[in-house]
Amino acid sequence: MIEIDGSQGEGGGQVLRTSLALSVVTGKPFRLFSIRAGRKSPGMKKQHLACVRAAKQISNAEVSGDALDSTELTFTPQGIHPGQYRFTVGSAGSAALVYQMVLPPLLHADRPSFVMIEGGTHAAWAPPFDFLQHSFIPMLERMGASVTLSAERLGFYPAGGGLLHARIHPWIERHPFKLMELMSSSLSATAYISNLPRHVAERALRKVKQAFVLDDDLLNVADVKTAGPGNALCIYSHSNQVTEVMTTFGKRGRKSEDVAKEAIKAMLRYLDAKVPVGEYLADQLLVPMALGAGGRFRTLEPSLHTRTNINTIQRFLDVEITCEEVEGAWEIEVEKGSGSAGA
Ligand code: AMP
Repeated sequence: MIEIDGSQGEGGGQVLRTSLALSVVTGKPFRLFSIRAGRKSPGMKKQHLACVRAAKQISNAEVSGDALDSTELTFTPQGIHPGQYRFTVGSAGSAALVYQMVLPPLLHADRPSFVMIEGGTHAAWAPPFDFLQHSFIPMLERMGASVTLSAERLGFYPAGGGLLHARIHPWIERHPFKLMELMSSSLSATAYISNLPRHVAERALRKVKQAFVLDDDLLNVADVKTAGPGNALCIYSHSNQVTEVMTTFGKRGRKSEDVAKEAIKAMLRYLDAKVPVGEYLADQLLVPMALGAGGRFRTLEPSLHTRTNINTIQRFLDVEITCEEVEGAWEIEVEKGSGSAGA
């Protein structure tokens, strides 16, 4: 049984999700304690439990401790069972995070799966649907994986109610991943609004237009119908190698201009660094690279999420993951080991 301290490093939900995913892939049971000890309200919340239940379903696992606010979990998987599933997170808890957890095991199954996930598609502290679609999934495809993802409905904080459809095929050919340069990139932006006046989106886009001197045809208002009011702003950087998406989320009482300022700041930080991989994509590429054929990418200074994910991955898999500062940027390399894995 692998023993994992959930308070290590970043101390959030990612330790749980990475452990669940890799436990199912490798068949190794684990015990996780001090779950989300680094958060204001520790223990498992609805969206973490949704991940545990999804992992349990696809692996027929024996589980103890899977209760709301629980800070300890033991998980013993029994195989990988592809098929048709519908997982419900409840409220605006992130559907994307459930998707990213079931993805590695189902890529390792011997048959395709079709998965529906109900929850938030644009919620803070999680990858928005646009990021999965334009940034994360194309990188997986480069590693040789074959997946499709669509959103039947979007769901914003706090009402949620989004619905993702995912097809995940067995991963047959695994290609090493290399992404070292960001050639010239162009920008565009989409301001989402749901059940809110159009000026909320237009004011955010005006700020983006001013900051990056963009033509109006690169600025898009997406007025969508969802279960409740909500807004989000996505700024995209498109290049031949990678699309990066910086997203910020509105909430009641937060000015649209402030939502825009935060996304602009994130995009400027990324563009100034002249690296292809942004902060969030960096931590999310590590599990697929470690399960695939490894590789190397250039990125910003690794976040605590990235460093914590590296530690968790190395508990399950025999891979060496190194972060090195090179000429003002960072390079992360994932090398497959030769022996059998982990602690
Ligand atoms: P945790 O805080 O441990 O639950 O992990 C949150 C995950 O969501 C990490 O993998 C982050 O990279 C990812 N994430 C958070 N915010 C964003 C964002 N705006 N865009 C893309 N990914 C995000």
